[in-house]
Amino acid sequence: MVCTECGAEYIEGIHVCPDCRVPLVPELPETPQPEYVEYVTVMKTGNPILLAMVKSILASAGIRHFVKGEVLQDLFRVGTAEIQVGRDDEPEARRLLLELAIGNGEG
Ligand SMILES: [Zn+2]
Repeated sequence: MVCTECGAEYIEGIHVCPDCRVPLVPELPETPQPEYVEYVTVMKTGNPILLAMVKSILASAGIRHFVKGEVLQDLFRVGTAEIQVGRDDEPEARRLLLELAIGNGEG
């Protein structure tokens, strides 16, 4: 038996958590995993310099991100990396990328 409030486990026969005074359940109900974040690709690039810039911009903005794939600095083989951020951070990330693009365009 498990308390839904504090998560403490009790032996069979106890039906109420003495601490929380809530009814115990046989198992904790399935809860959505808070750690799970859906990632979306905000940029694809084969340019390692741009990739590094974007990573540093996202990091300084406190946006959790990761790079899928590798940009290989290889003369014969250029990889494409995807920069992904959590869906919650997507608008902010896109705004930062837009600023980066505008900044580059204006020199
Ligand atoms: Zn409890």
